[in-house]
Amino acid sequence: MTTSPDLPGSHDWSEAGFSTRAIHAGQDPDAGTGAVVPPIYQVSTYKQDGVGGLRGGYEYSRSGNPTRAALEEALRAAEGGAAGFAFASGLAAEDTLLRATLRPGDHVVVPNDAYGGTYRLIARVFGPWGIEHTPVDLTNTDAVLDAIQPGRTKLVWVETPTNPMLTIADIGAIAAHARSAGAVLAVDNTFATPYLQQPIALGADVVVHSTTKYIGGHSDVVGGALVVADGAQLPVGLDGPTGGTSLADAVRFHQNSSGAVAGPFDAWLTLRGLKTLAVRMDRHCANAAAVAEFLAGHPRVTQVIYPGLESHPGHELAARQQRGFGGMISFRTGSVDSALAVCAATRVFTLAESLGGVESLIEHPARMTHGSVAGTALEVPDDLVRLSVGIEDVADLIADLAGALA
Ligand SMILES: *Cc1c(COP(=O)(O)O)cnc(C)c1O
Repeated sequence: MTTSPDLPGSHDWSEAGFSTRAIHAGQDPDAGTGAVVPPIYQVSTYKQDGVGGLRGGYEYSRSGNPTRAALEEALRAAEGGAAGFAFASGLAAEDTLLRATLRPGDHVVVPNDAYGGTYRLIARVFGPWGIEHTPVDLTNTDAVLDAIQPGRTKLVWVETPTNPMLTIADIGAIAAHARSAGAVLAVDNTFATPYLQQPIALGADVVVHSTTKYIGGHSDVVGGALVVADGAQLPVGLDGPTGGTSLADAVRFHQNSSGAVAGPFDAWLTLRGLKTLAVRMDRHCANAAAVAEFLAGHPRVTQVIYPGLESHPGHELAARQQRGFGGMISFRTGSVDSALAVCAATRVFTLAESLGGVESLIEHPARMTHGSVAGTALEVPDDLVRLSVGIEDVADLIADLAGALA
């Protein structure tokens, strides 16, 4: 769509490094004014130069908006994909992908510790529309193979690291199984971010994001994204809504048909966050490593779950698959009461859902983010505490936790 040299996205940054792509892809200075960042095109419709005479392909902002296009191109470049799509939330992105790839009677393999909202969407929204699912421990690649029903499984959903148990799945190995079954491999890359992990290079067909988290990075916007790999196809046997079998074409059709798009201001905030993703992630990783070490040595903590610790069962795989271990830590305190007490006692860590912002957050998954999976295969331990380690001074973070655990 954005072929005019006047519009964002005209320069090819594919050879550039991660941060150069995040800062420049889709974000050429405005041709008319020289504005260095893409303006917020807070507009619903576009003047046509005669019927069908669109300027740069824009006709209506559900179908396309220049600010959103800038974000979509930057996300595409950050993930190394062929096409990017921005949505009103991570779940809106997931919903669009599920609609594009599944039909009644199809089957999905889902992580047995998937993000609760993902599980709820697949089980309780798509279930009644005839979609079956099997929760699987994705750390066991053979179990993934066993769960795939040839001819019926059309989508394999990977989340790594998972929320909140921080398990690590082998994207490349699972991609091979999904491919041989003719299923689409989707990877939720929200926790790792494209800076730490590049699922498409490892064989994923499509990357899913809640950009609400690290990509937005400032706890001020809700958004989601899909980035489709070059050449990715719909599941074997499914014809796309516009003819052909291109996954990107099907997602584009569904994004416009269902319309859960990112608004211009939300797209602008998300794009602003993406530019600093790499520097923020470096600090998130360094702070989390220090906090995990502290917790591992604390007598009131019974278990620390952080992929950067050698005690983590996925440590070696994470070291191979990721550039860093991320900013999320979960730990157990031995009882629900002590977990709730810690959550109530911190001052720098704010008690809140969500994650990935510059400020540190603490929460109790069993009663907060993962309440919707209580009583299912995805239930989480009730003495678990989850930290989103921010980019404050790490000494203050450790002192805060020390006080709360005392
Ligand atoms: C938050 C989250 C989602 C859902 O995204 P929203 O923006 O809240 O709709 C999906 N996956 C993961 C891993 C998440 O953390």
